[in-house]
Amino acid sequence: MAETRKMEGLRTRLTALRRMLASMAGLIGSDYATKEQAWEMLEGLFNPLAHALTATAITIVAWHNWHAYGSLASVPAAIIVIGTFAIRLAFVRRFHRRGPDARVSDWVRRFASSSFIAALGWGSSLSILLYTTEGATRFAVFALISAPIQGASARAYAMPGVVILHISIVLGMISVTATAFGVTVAIPLALLYLWYQVGFVSELFTLRTRMLKADHDNRALLGQVTRYNADLAVMNARLSTFALTDGLTGVSNRRNFDEKLRQNLQDQPMHAASLALLLIDVDHFKRFNDNFGHLVGDECLKLVAAAIRSVERADDFTARYGGEEFALILPATTRADALMVAERVRLAVAAMDCSALPNPARGLTVSIGVGIAVANANIQPRTLLEAADSALYLAKQSGRNCVRDGMASGQQLQQIA
Ligand code: GH3
Ligand code: MG
Ligand code: MG
Repeated sequence: MAETRKMEGLRTRLTALRRMLASMAGLIGSDYATKEQAWEMLEGLFNPLAHALTATAITIVAWHNWHAYGSLASVPAAIIVIGTFAIRLAFVRRFHRRGPDARVSDWVRRFASSSFIAALGWGSSLSILLYTTEGATRFAVFALISAPIQGASARAYAMPGVVILHISIVLGMISVTATAFGVTVAIPLALLYLWYQVGFVSELFTLRTRMLKADHDNRALLGQVTRYNADLAVMNARLSTFALTDGLTGVSNRRNFDEKLRQNLQDQPMHAASLALLLIDVDHFKRFNDNFGHLVGDECLKLVAAAIRSVERADDFTARYGGEEFALILPATTRADALMVAERVRLAVAAMDCSALPNPARGLTVSIGVGIAVANANIQPRTLLEAADSALYLAKQSGRNCVRDGMASGQQLQQIA
């Protein structure tokens, strides 16, 4: 058991090492970085400022070496430096002019090549200067050596493998030159410096990888939250539809009706016209159920709802008031128009096609009570409902299958059918 665990631990560590080595060769965090982040890292790597500073500093020392000591070796050193910088600038220019289908992997390779050329350029020009300068100028050359090294390490967060190689080339060339004129101590010093830089770079590597992974996880979580929110919005919309809809007929339920009637009456003073409420009750529905069964009764209620909706206008509102009763709110409607709509509803129900029902039922009718809330009268929902209910009662008394109306004040009732 313990053996297996040890093997597993070893395998995990090997995978991590393999991953790190793979990352060292290319851009860090290729598993986690987005395309934008990869281009951003390359943008940082191709920033020519460090190269411009290094080239300027080496050229100054070369000029000083020639001016103070007449050293001809300054000429090739300066040519190499300027050439190296020019090559780098050419890479930078091409990078900024890359097309829309440029590939990150191609530019990683190009950066590695340009870094290799730069290391050879800086290393050889510095070696020439170190070998040919005299006296105090040599201090300046030694100080200069750290410039391309620090410049490279500062950008190691993106491509540590290439940076370490760059540093090793510069330090290697300098150490060989120093050893050539007898400063053998340069080799252990260069190794110590390299060791220090490797530590610094690996720390940057760890931090950058951690940052990219955190960013990657953040993005994944944000995506998940966005998806959950979208699902939740759909569920909420469905829930509110359920909460406001009658399950059998699909029209609005009583709760929705109460709220709509309250709102409509509240807005009523804004309209010059009156508001009408139709209470529509299926005639002898108990008997109908007894004759044809409750299931057929249910199907008929759906047909009644559909018949009412077929008459409904854009701003009208149909609801199931309860049982076999429906309500229809007609905002901004005159009494004459309300009676016309009610009559249309009555006829639509009487003409309903019930042939598709399992037990074809015929002769279903409705009685309709029309309540009118006159404009600017500040009528309460209860008052209007009472008016419509009284009118409905009258319609039933009058033999059913007819329309009666009443003012919300409850006095004026008129028969039209
Ligand atoms: P009236 O003409 O006076 O309105 O007579 P009615 O039989 O329609 O009135 P009553 O109030 O006596 O009976 C209403 C019937 O409506 C009784 C009830 O079973 C039926 N009903 C109410 N809701 C439903 C429903 O959802 N499905 C079915 N199938 N029947 C229902
Ligand atoms: Mg009833
Ligand atoms: Mg009834």
